[in-house]
Amino acid sequence: MKIAFIGLGNMGAPMAANLAKAGHAVTGFDVAGATAEGVAQAGSGPGAVAGAEVVITMLPNGAILRSVADEIIPAMAPGAVLLDCSTVDVDSARAVADQAAMAGLGALDAPVSGGIGGAAGGTLTFMVGGSEEAFAKAKPLFDIMGQKAVHCGPSGNGQAAKICNNMILGVTMIATCEAFALADKLGLSREAMFDVVSTSSGSSWSMNTYCPAPGVGPTSPADNGYKPGFAAELMLKDLGLSQQAAETADADTPMGQRALELYRSFVEDEGGKGRDFSAMLPRFSDRSRG
Ligand code: NAD
Repeated sequence: MKIAFIGLGNMGAPMAANLAKAGHAVTGFDVAGATAEGVAQAGSGPGAVAGAEVVITMLPNGAILRSVADEIIPAMAPGAVLLDCSTVDVDSARAVADQAAMAGLGALDAPVSGGIGGAAGGTLTFMVGGSEEAFAKAKPLFDIMGQKAVHCGPSGNGQAAKICNNMILGVTMIATCEAFALADKLGLSREAMFDVVSTSSGSSWSMNTYCPAPGVGPTSPADNGYKPGFAAELMLKDLGLSQQAAETADADTPMGQRALELYRSFVEDEGGKGRDFSAMLPRFSDRSRG
């Protein structure tokens, strides 16, 4: 298949390289001049998308996605599919899908989970919004770049699934970290805390698979000095998107709102930038109630 790939950053470059390795003809463009293995380089977005059957974007945010869409949609081949894998706000995803539909193109929003390791290893999970027809066309590409693609409904629903999942993740990680810090102060060993909670009703992915306490449970970023993993600032971005969506949809999300506030303080004022999002545990450990 002839594929264009716009945005060859930490995630986009390995994803594009995996498509090229699988035998697809991939042409890439990144405004910063980034490249990817096996990918031909174009001098502009419109130059990259000309004649492509599928155009993949992997960009930092919704505003940039909208401006890239304005540039590339008029240059896309009739019937081609615009497949956005970035994590963006639901409104931008739906606006870009409408714009593509008006130009006679297919569109999918397909944010991912799995991080940089999943992008390199071709083991991402895609949460996809858009038509059945566009999903069927992109499915072979999801199978190369990832291990699972869930069709969540019409345009925007992929982003909706992603931010709801990550709102739960942010909240459960904070709850797990504050409970560890309380357990420490109550004289409970971290090992005992893990053994009880991981097999009890307080269990979660944050505790069982990504335990924020070093030396306890399976290996996680806590065992590597809290090097990301999933950086706190990316969690902050996703929590911001979930609150933006909750505002638009008039949904009451007090725990998501509080998680956003805590990650914002952590990233902006408490040295959390560049650390894994599970480094909330040392943050709580260092604090007292007041
Ligand atoms: P990144 O900043 O490394 O890559 C984004 C790339 O887009 C950069 O190389 C940048 O130069 C390029 N770009 C910006 N504006 C452009 C334009 N107008 N035209 C062409 N290229 C442009 O970010 P990343 O870590 O690769 O993340 C990309 C997306 O994936 C984000 O939406 C992020 O939230 C999401 N995501 C990231 C991870 C992760 O672990 N890094 C995990 C899941 C989802």
